[in-house]
Amino acid sequence: MIDRFIFTRYRTSCYHCGKEADQVIKAVPYRAQVMCENCGATRIFIPRVEEVAREGRYTPIGCYDTWEMVVPASCRNCRVTGPHDMFIGCNHFTVRCRNCGFTHFYKFDLEYMGQCPIDTEDEACR
Ligand SMILES: [Zn+2]
Ligand SMILES: [Zn+2]
Repeated sequence: MIDRFIFTRYRTSCYHCGKEADQVIKAVPYRAQVMCENCGATRIFIPRVEEVAREGRYTPIGCYDTWEMVVPASCRNCRVTGPHDMFIGCNHFTVRCRNCGFTHFYKFDLEYMGQCPIDTEDEACR
């Protein structure tokens, strides 16, 4: 079982506080989260689809501020640890294994202010 699938940062202007700050990105198979290190604005994404997909199938479209990055991760499908293409948009969060094409597609769920680690059991963070 892989507890921490993705853990990375992306420096950009925060949609909430407007400052350039690191956005802390964490993803596990059952949830993905993006948190502004400056103001604590957090967006939660929940999984909708997991499948082997061709490139671009789940790339978010129609979003002005899609973030694109490549992150190392361990694929649950082919078990290879290697580069994954990650796209984060206003409503979508996708991670795709470059080796086999296995794609995690998460959809935006909710937004809150605060500092809740992804592995917390705190009720306020759900
Ligand atoms: Zn912020
Ligand atoms: Zn794979």
